[in-house]
Amino acid sequence: MDIYDHPTFLMACQQFDQVADHLEIPQEDRDRLKYPKRSMVVALPIHKDDGSTQVFTGYRVQHHLTLGPTKGGLRFHPQVSLGEVAALAMWMSWKCALCGLPYGGAKGGITCDPGKLSLTELERLTRRYTQEMIPFIGPQVDVMAPDLGTNQQVMAWMMDTYSVHMGHTVPSIVTGKPVGLGGSLGRREATGRGVGYLVNRATDTIGLDISKATAAIQGFGNVGSITALSLARYGVKIIAVTDAFGGVYNAEGLNLWELEKHVAARKTVAGFPGADALTNEQLLELPCDILVPAALERQITAENAGKIKCRILAEAANGPTTPEADAIIAQRPEIFVIPDVLCNAGGVVVSYFEWVQDLQSFFWGETEVVDKLFRILEAAFTQTVTLSRKQKIPMRVAALSLGIKRVQEAKRTRGLFP
Ligand code: GLU
Repeated sequence: MDIYDHPTFLMACQQFDQVADHLEIPQEDRDRLKYPKRSMVVALPIHKDDGSTQVFTGYRVQHHLTLGPTKGGLRFHPQVSLGEVAALAMWMSWKCALCGLPYGGAKGGITCDPGKLSLTELERLTRRYTQEMIPFIGPQVDVMAPDLGTNQQVMAWMMDTYSVHMGHTVPSIVTGKPVGLGGSLGRREATGRGVGYLVNRATDTIGLDISKATAAIQGFGNVGSITALSLARYGVKIIAVTDAFGGVYNAEGLNLWELEKHVAARKTVAGFPGADALTNEQLLELPCDILVPAALERQITAENAGKIKCRILAEAANGPTTPEADAIIAQRPEIFVIPDVLCNAGGVVVSYFEWVQDLQSFFWGETEVVDKLFRILEAAFTQTVTLSRKQKIPMRVAALSLGIKRVQEAKRTRGLFP
């Protein structure tokens, strides 16, 4: 299907094919599992603040609807394209299935630079996108959430637009909303908190003392910043952080509270006093115990995979490591990989809790949310490590095998209609 042609979609397909070979999935099942169920591309004209009109392009890809509604984030970024969103939707499917959530995967996006739009322009764009998507979404059809470049406020506008259309308030249409509008306690922190939990489990598994470990984090958005705090609570020293504008390094450890204040004022970690400047490329090759890519796809490639110097590669981003890099890392048994579909699953797990709470109009305390989150992550982690060791396969192949097999079995059992 050429419409999805994009290096990231190709990469998701390569990963799928490798696992399909491993699982010996018959050829006739493969296309059914691989390609999205449906994809929407919409033109989004909005009034700019200066009185002009600009048209943006929006996407939504729903990968499969076999197990329930589709679930996945909405991304605002200049590089968003149909193929990228399709890859991200596929990964959401395997992530949800690995964690036993009753969802298929989805992802959406608008090709735009949110940093260059005013708040009112952003609101008009979000509302127009939601309006265009109304025929294709719903609490039992497709439920969106934040991703790169979107946040709680964007979810609030989406919920409002959908609710106004329906004539009553529908909190379960999106997750990652503000808590005051039916959001879940602990959702904002969920992805980073999950990364912290899994890194701690990984250090147990390989016999590394977490309280003496160092970490380097690529990306300081919602996921990167909460991951930093969460790792710091386990005693990890955060020695380097980068974002789209630059990076900082301090072998003695960065003061995260001061760094948060700096980022709040400057919108970047770059220029943080008391630390040396560092590029994204340098961060990935820095000697450290825990390397956390928490930004975009395809950061660890054939070029730098041989040069990374960590014990644990914790993939907080979606798709940060290419299949060519995977082949190189497979020859480096000293590196323990926590693959993306497992590592960043905390976000969608608590999104699931938020959806359940909204449907029941019955809300849980934060301790209950965190406890239930860790139980699901623990089960997914244990199953993945066990399978990886039993079959002597990389952690990514193990995690994807568990997810893909569950979707395959669900499709087989439901049968083909008519
Ligand atoms: N965007 C997040 C992800 O990639 C969360 C999706 C969700 O909560 O639905 O997993």
